[in-house]
Amino acid sequence: MSILDSVVIGAGQAGLSASYHLTRLGISHVVLDSDAAAGGAWRHRWDALTMRDVHGVAELPDDTPPPRDGQRANMAVPAYFAAYEKAHRLPVVRPVRVDRVEDDDGILVVHAGDRQWRARTLVNATGTWTHPFLPHYPGMETFVGEQLHTVDYPGPEHFLGKRVLVVGGGASAVQFLGALTPLTDTIWATRTEPVWRNDDFTPEAGAAAVALVEQRVARGLPPQSVVSVTGLMLRPQEREAERLGAYAARRPMFARIEPDGVCWVDGSFERVDVILWATGFRPAIAHLAPLHLRSAAGGIQLDRNGRGTTAVQDPRIQLVGYGPSASTIGANRAGRSAAKGVQRALSVAPVPRP
Ligand code: FAD
Repeated sequence: MSILDSVVIGAGQAGLSASYHLTRLGISHVVLDSDAAAGGAWRHRWDALTMRDVHGVAELPDDTPPPRDGQRANMAVPAYFAAYEKAHRLPVVRPVRVDRVEDDDGILVVHAGDRQWRARTLVNATGTWTHPFLPHYPGMETFVGEQLHTVDYPGPEHFLGKRVLVVGGGASAVQFLGALTPLTDTIWATRTEPVWRNDDFTPEAGAAAVALVEQRVARGLPPQSVVSVTGLMLRPQEREAERLGAYAARRPMFARIEPDGVCWVDGSFERVDVILWATGFRPAIAHLAPLHLRSAAGGIQLDRNGRGTTAVQDPRIQLVGYGPSASTIGANRAGRSAAKGVQRALSVAPVPRP
């Protein structure tokens, strides 16, 4: 079996950007993606999310960003990615779900079922969408209503006539309340007091938020999402929900879940039909476990004080779309840095060709 210079896992914004730059540097590689078609996580976003609703999708390298119009994000971005893959002849192979990556005497072996790829370096670009985070609360299993996570969000109409408890203090929770409160009864619960920002979200504010995530990654801590440190903002779409009191009536987390509702810490009961867990995601990196990249603090430490993409534990491995680069603009830039990291690793420790 031939040995590639690199394997990229994941064909979202981060993986496509890395593949583009690897191609430019003449580095042989494949991009393995578990989805059936182009689009990364954007393929799975809910139908009601339009390009006008998203915070902004950055352009792919040497391209223009998709238009901010009324098109569905789960169609516009996949079409944009598909055209990009084709125009740049990126070597994407799908559907391939990578189960694990092992080290075989200096060569990285990427396993997907009974298929294998061998490579000198690896760029991991698997995002977070396939690893939703659901906290555990007592009584969760006894709830007879519906429990959904952000990944299952079916759009606002589904909730008509139902009493919905939205859990989580991030941008998704704010958006769900914005869409649902004008239609139905909602309650909002968060673990900590939400942090609102009233100033404009300037590039400097964005850089400051990213720097906070970089500091965590530099110390090998599990990264927080960039969005979680930027603070929350209400957009025009959320003003009606605000007027109806959706955000002001936020409550601290409940103590336990009952079959038909939740009990607050003061012992009072709230009947709800649906619990919508907008509780975020974690990096989808279980397949890297055999490489032992995690630090004692639980995260993967990256070089350049968390600003780089190279794993400190193993410079053959690049992580893109991880920690500070978990946004479309960050993923885009990280792809370039990862390709350079791959080039560096290949030149520093060339493995003899068989
Ligand atoms: P993804 O787009 O998730 O791509 C990862 C790819 O890897 C997928 O195709 C997946 O199928 C594949 N994969 C995963 N595991 C495996 C495996 N084991 N084997 C093979 N393939 C695998 N960012 C913004 O900049 N603007 C926004 O408006 C914005 N809105 C967001 C809204 C929501 C609800 C969420 C959750 C995130 C949002 N983000 C936004 C963040 C942004 O979507 C991501 O950070 C960005 O798209 C990075 O993409 P990625 O390439 O890292 O991951």
